[in-house]
Amino acid sequence: MADTTYTDPVITRLRAELTRARRALAESASYFSAQEQASAVLNCTNPETVQSPLHRFVASAIASVDDVLEDTSPGEEQHGNHVARLLAGIIADLDRCPHGRHHQDPCGRCSGGRSTGNPHLTAGQRIGYSIHGTPIYVPKPEDRYAPEAWRKPPTRQA
Ligand SMILES: [Zn+2]
Repeated sequence: MADTTYTDPVITRLRAELTRARRALAESASYFSAQEQASAVLNCTNPETVQSPLHRFVASAIASVDDVLEDTSPGEEQHGNHVARLLAGIIADLDRCPHGRHHQDPCGRCSGGRSTGNPHLTAGQRIGYSIHGTPIYVPKPEDRYAPEAWRKPPTRQA
């Protein structure tokens, strides 16, 4: 389960259904408690001594649901990794030509049969700034997987 992300839509839906079922179980447990309290008062006994087996079963089911909800909770780190993977995918797509091919990969629709890359991003182009005002540049296609390359100003050609 190392690669499982609990942000999958199916798991999110299952968690929502479990949460609804848990609410129903909690209402049942509350009903059983009230019944047991009333019975204990009538019989002058401790409510725990009149706890029904069904109430114990419902309480056990609630505990199991809580365990599953906790185990499948999209933790912050897991969610952060998921977001980082999605962002890395977007960065990796930035060199694709309008036909979806990476720069220099075979492309039947780019001139010369090779992808000419993203026409909107050219190497050396300033595209933004960090929080400290450091410019962000488009690296050469071969350097785009190196984070530091996005911070390097373009080298002047002689
Ligand atoms: Zn192309």
